[in-house]
Amino acid sequence: MKKAFILFSLLTFLLPASVFAAENSQIKYVALTFDDGPHAKYTPIILDILKKHDAKATFFVLGQRLEYEILPEIVKQAEEEGHAIGSHMFDHAQPHQLSKEQLKKQISRTNELIYQITGNTPAILRPPYGQNNTRVTDVAAEMNMSVVLWNIDPRDSIIFDTNSIINSAVKEIKDGDIIILHDIFETSVNAVEPILKKLSDEGFTFVTVPELISIKHGQIKPGETYKSGLEPCY
Ligand SMILES: [Zn+2]
Repeated sequence: MKKAFILFSLLTFLLPASVFAAENSQIKYVALTFDDGPHAKYTPIILDILKKHDAKATFFVLGQRLEYEILPEIVKQAEEEGHAIGSHMFDHAQPHQLSKEQLKKQISRTNELIYQITGNTPAILRPPYGQNNTRVTDVAAEMNMSVVLWNIDPRDSIIFDTNSIINSAVKEIKDGDIIILHDIFETSVNAVEPILKKLSDEGFTFVTVPELISIKHGQIKPGETYKSGLEPCY
């Protein structure tokens, strides 16, 4: 009886820690991000695929596309389904060629449109072409936003080949990575489900960018730049 009690005490003492350690070492996180949308045809297809696989993603939307009649509904649906909505500025102008005032206009106009649709002001900004500079990060900080780049680029807006996109996305992926895709091309949309399946099989969980950053670094910070979950602030 005494032996059994000691064994039980030992187990309850050891078990939670070992289970916790095993869970922690096995879970790998990845953030799938989509730029340049929403797209009336392709974004809803992606939302269906994400729902089917219980995966979360991040959509960096262009302000000017939110002025079309059907597109705000897609953004609203994406947010309601647990995805993160970020800003890709208004009209895809090159940030390196914009003054601070022009950047402010691009970002605030897009933020207002997103706020009207979702009731939330976006906390993350992806500058078009990944063009980041101190003007961008200064404006982002003023607007309480973080800059989010990426570290896995299948170049799906240049190479219109689904297999190549899939291979580039999964080849060297590791815990904490951020993948960039575009939800405006059929070849990219066709790559989404194979990427989800392959990486899920490898033990990856698909989370939004703010979730990824908070898992890896604690709270996401305004004015900081994140290239991946493991490489912030540069
Ligand atoms: Zn873009």
